[in-house]
Amino acid sequence: MTGSAGSVAFIGIGVMGAGMAANLAQKGFATTVFNRSAAKAAPLAAAGARVAASAREAVGGAEVVFLCLPATSNVEALLFGPEGIADILAAGTVVVDTSTIDPVATRAFAESLAARGVAMLDAPVSGGQKGAVDGTLTCMVGGPAEALETARPFLAAMATTIVHIGASGAGQVAKACNQICVSANLVGASEAMALAMKMGVDPSRVREALLGGAARSVVLERHVQKLLDRDFRPGFRTALITKDLTIAAKALNDAQVFAPVSAAILQILKGLAASGRQDDDWCSVGDLIQQLSAIEPADRDTASR
Ligand code: NAD
Repeated sequence: MTGSAGSVAFIGIGVMGAGMAANLAQKGFATTVFNRSAAKAAPLAAAGARVAASAREAVGGAEVVFLCLPATSNVEALLFGPEGIADILAAGTVVVDTSTIDPVATRAFAESLAARGVAMLDAPVSGGQKGAVDGTLTCMVGGPAEALETARPFLAAMATTIVHIGASGAGQVAKACNQICVSANLVGASEAMALAMKMGVDPSRVREALLGGAARSVVLERHVQKLLDRDFRPGFRTALITKDLTIAAKALNDAQVFAPVSAAILQILKGLAASGRQDDDWCSVGDLIQQLSAIEPADRDTASR
């Protein structure tokens, strides 16, 4: 027990939310959780959380309300939809949205909530399921500094790096920048692994060598290993990185940034999702690249080499 007795609600118990909410509960915060499909939230009771039957029930009395939902439309519905929570949040509550969503929509949501005396932080995270479970996420925060100070003890239970980027929406801009970097890294590394395979060179040995030099990255370390293991269970679903690159592409376009690489990656990801792999881990992009490079299925299985 390292936290205070602060009262917190956590809505959206998926791949990320499960670990994040468990950390809050295990570190001493009075935590109430809710997920749309109840079976995902039920195991949190073992970590000490109270499992609510609705979002509106979950937020009653909470000082801070965390959201970790798939996309912009889910956050909008949860806040302002027919069964949304915005109208019952007490003035002074802080909403911390850890989902990766559109920065412009985020600003509009924050303005609507501010009119009701509720502060909203955009606080998207990086670090994947492992970071969520270990409590070592990186959190990119946009919104009022005072609200961040209220939320900080709770965030610190889940994240080791918390950076206040700027005003509302700035956290989501930082997250779009992050997704541009990591997706370019994964697609580039996937092409490199396919090259090794086609040249009759062991991609695992190539990866090992690259990890010692300037190509070293979390993507090469973690996600390319998952690709070489042909472990396509999510992790980070293809649908979510496709959503993130769509957000980034819109922002790049609106800001008139010359961005041919991001445009190409978005097309590749859309192709991957359309090929039926939207619920596979995003490392499956490497498998698509191998397929389109005419590498035979048997030759893609590096474990059998
Ligand atoms: P997920 O699909 O596993 O989880 C989302 C959860 O939200 C699901 O359990 C779903 O049932 C629930 N949900 C949806 N609408 C709801 C509603 N109205 N009320 C209650 N629950 C609702 O997704 P995830 O991988 O946990 O990602 C969540 C967010 O975090 C996304 O925006 C994603 O882009 C971002 N993210 C994911 C990762 C990752 O590695 N998975 C890493 C960083 C950021």
